[in-house]
Amino acid sequence: MNDATRDPANEAASDAAPESRDFIRQIVADDLAAGRHSVIVTRFPPEPNGYLHVGHAKSICLNFGVAAEAGGRCFLRLDDTNPLKEDQAFVDAIIDQVRWLGFDWADRLTHASDYFAQIHDCAVALIGAGKAYVDSLTPEQMREYRGTLTAPGRESPHRSRTVAENLELFTRMRAGAFADGEHVLRAKIDMAAPNINLRDPVLYRIRRATHQRTGAAWCIYPLYDFAHTISDALEGITHSLCTLEFEDHRPLYEWFLANLQLPARPRQIEFSRLNLAFTITSKRRLAELIELQLVAGWDDPRLPTIAGMRRRGYPPAALRDFVGRTGVTKKEHRVQMSLLENCVREDLNVRASRAMAVLNPLKVVLTNYPAGQTELLAAANHPDRPDLGERQLPFGRELWIERDDFMEDAPQKFFRLRPGGEVRLRYGYIIRCHDLVKDADGRVTEVHCTYDPETRSGMSGAERKVKGTIHWVSAARAVRAEVRLYDRLFSVARPDGQDADFKTFLNPESLRIESKAWLELSLLEVPPGVVLQFERLGYFVADRVDHRPGQAVFNRVVTLRDSWAKVEG
Ligand code: ATP
Ligand code: MG
Repeated sequence: MNDATRDPANEAASDAAPESRDFIRQIVADDLAAGRHSVIVTRFPPEPNGYLHVGHAKSICLNFGVAAEAGGRCFLRLDDTNPLKEDQAFVDAIIDQVRWLGFDWADRLTHASDYFAQIHDCAVALIGAGKAYVDSLTPEQMREYRGTLTAPGRESPHRSRTVAENLELFTRMRAGAFADGEHVLRAKIDMAAPNINLRDPVLYRIRRATHQRTGAAWCIYPLYDFAHTISDALEGITHSLCTLEFEDHRPLYEWFLANLQLPARPRQIEFSRLNLAFTITSKRRLAELIELQLVAGWDDPRLPTIAGMRRRGYPPAALRDFVGRTGVTKKEHRVQMSLLENCVREDLNVRASRAMAVLNPLKVVLTNYPAGQTELLAAANHPDRPDLGERQLPFGRELWIERDDFMEDAPQKFFRLRPGGEVRLRYGYIIRCHDLVKDADGRVTEVHCTYDPETRSGMSGAERKVKGTIHWVSAARAVRAEVRLYDRLFSVARPDGQDADFKTFLNPESLRIESKAWLELSLLEVPPGVVLQFERLGYFVADRVDHRPGQAVFNRVVTLRDSWAKVEG
């Protein structure tokens, strides 16, 4: 293989496990072995009418992965044939998201609109060959003539227009002589075909809309199937990978290839969509949640969008790992959220530094610790990675602990702090509770303890064992933070497969905010996007949007343990 055709920068190429070959990779391997192709060329063709979601991540990993593993190339092609629904902001976001996921298209960033002239020429060629005609039925009539799944369609009275008539009408359509919807160009295939996609599909429609790239240059726009097939062929795509809903479009794809003079003959192969339990992977529905402001935007950390998952703190490697583990098949299935979260956890466990944070604070006063004194306690940043170093935790007379880690009337099995009980402070001393301070409502506001100076972690004599260890933060030297705790967006596994509207299944508890959390002092200057493990609590990311010096905002990425078992069953 020629090295110049490689994608050396494809970070994700190294993820591939060659022994696990899905049916698409098998087809590609067979085609290479049989000499049908010497260079494999694929594409990821999103329509810029929304942000990408986890399903698209699967398609991206598949298309870029298949090409990279074979030493071939993959195009990132924006399928921008419908200016009414598309937007440059979506184009920019898509480009950013594919790059973040770890893929590089080098100079192969293209747009369907790059090919508008060629697509137009293909239409003219079909007209010239008597294989396309201008139709003037109203949309209602067209629907009526199309027939149904069980009844054949009828031929339009305009189907018998001569080549010359069609050429003239199409030229005038292109020149803006007609109103939107007055005419369309259709392929002349077979109105009685059992496959409705072959019943003279529309190739071009009139649409006076400004296109984000071609401006007002065109007032006719090609339809998806036509534009997509031609774009694939012009780019020399060898394997055009798409989801199963395009299976019925394949005969049309083949018809275009057979009836046009094109430089390549790509093969369309369909695979099943990735569906994820307890969420939705449909751009249209995601857009609805955003328009109705039921979530904060396309990058809301509860959404399965790539932007949302990035803001949530999922590492791109974990997403690629997840997508790889879901496999490539033709079977419809819904993947459990626990698989995704486990991939995130596994990756972060290795990567994330540890820190201490108290989300719902309760004050502890060490009554035998001298007021005004502080000391520093050494803490490893990672239990198995000395390369990540250690930090010094300020320790003093007043501390914050988690309110949950204290219980006044604790059951026997409660191994944290209780009146008269002992607990170890992580990286610190054993303390014993001897008094409580309560407010007028009887709520505990302070826990008074003594500390045992002989039990400092790591010192000789520190071996004395107690059942529980809890985390803490110095009250005098800590960082105030807002911590956002995310949970599943929907309360049912299939929100979109129900009788009721999917929005009625939104989980009202999908976001809880702890606005009075405290973080250890070393987190004073954590940059946005950094993920940490808050010990005993989970993984948390400094929010990419709202976190800044002096205003710490963290999102919970994922809990430490799988919490799905009881939900997913
Ligand atoms: P949606 O149905 O969510 O609106 P779409 O299919 O309309 O998405 P496109 O921009 O057309 O979105 O998709 C680009 C590519 O991503 C297509 O090749 C499509 O097959 C693929 N794709 C879309 N959704 C999924 C999914 N859930 N799983 C795998 N691939 C997907
Ligand atoms: Mg689609």
